[in-house]
Amino acid sequence: MKETAGTTGTTGGTGITGATDPQTILREGCAAIGVSLSPAQLGALERYTALLRAGKAEVSLTTLTDPVAIAVKHFLDSLAVLVVLPPGPLRLVDVGTGAGFPGLPLKIARPGLEVVLIEATGKKAAWVQRTIETLGLEGARAVTGRAEELARAPSYRGRFDVATARAVAPLAVLLELCLPFVRPGGRFVALKTHAGLDAELPKAHRALEVLGGRVREVRPVEVPQLPNRVLVVVDLERPVPEQYPRRPGVPAKRPL
Ligand code: SAH
Repeated sequence: MKETAGTTGTTGGTGITGATDPQTILREGCAAIGVSLSPAQLGALERYTALLRAGKAEVSLTTLTDPVAIAVKHFLDSLAVLVVLPPGPLRLVDVGTGAGFPGLPLKIARPGLEVVLIEATGKKAAWVQRTIETLGLEGARAVTGRAEELARAPSYRGRFDVATARAVAPLAVLLELCLPFVRPGGRFVALKTHAGLDAELPKAHRALEVLGGRVREVRPVEVPQLPNRVLVVVDLERPVPEQYPRRPGVPAKRPL
């Protein structure tokens, strides 16, 4: 595995063919993962970019302001998850969504998804909800709350086909925060770097065992601009034991 550190693994800049406009870069990156976006979908991502840039002053949403960097590090990185989603209608929960990543680009690219975006910081969740409304996305909503608490709500626990998370916590912690949302037979997808995963996977064995997860695959992202990125796909084999997740803060403080 690669040793390169960093969270998103690219300096942005140009597309595969040297393109410098975000739309071409998105189209090329999507082609690399076998996805094609319609002009309407590309338009929605363009409006999302404008909202991110405008909202930056008001809420701390992202450190990126360059539309090309946003296209690569936020949109293409999120869209890479499409390759590990099963076909058909799905209910997806994105835990610690921040400004909507990866959940919102996934919703834009696959409008049939029902998406719940969970975010502990009320201001960020409110911004994401406004963005959903501005973009006119149906079947998506942002919810303020901590995963540790929301995973105990009957309408959320074990009710999702897929859970996702990016840049929220180490894998062992994420498993405890995310798997309780997943139905047995469903899956959890973590967006990581190769280097991050090398450090985190050996420490996640006990969490997998206790929670009932099994690593289905570790798949490098096939977008040339994102050489360090990797998707960890975990199948949930049985219902998560009732005692998990533990109280807010405990999963991060004392990882399984
Ligand atoms: N997924 C986004 C944001 C990453 S920052 C992205 O990749 O850009 C991590 C976010 O997770 C923060 O906004 C933080 O408020 C949220 N978060 C951290 N722990 C959480 C928890 N236990 N429940 C819900 N949200 C959480």
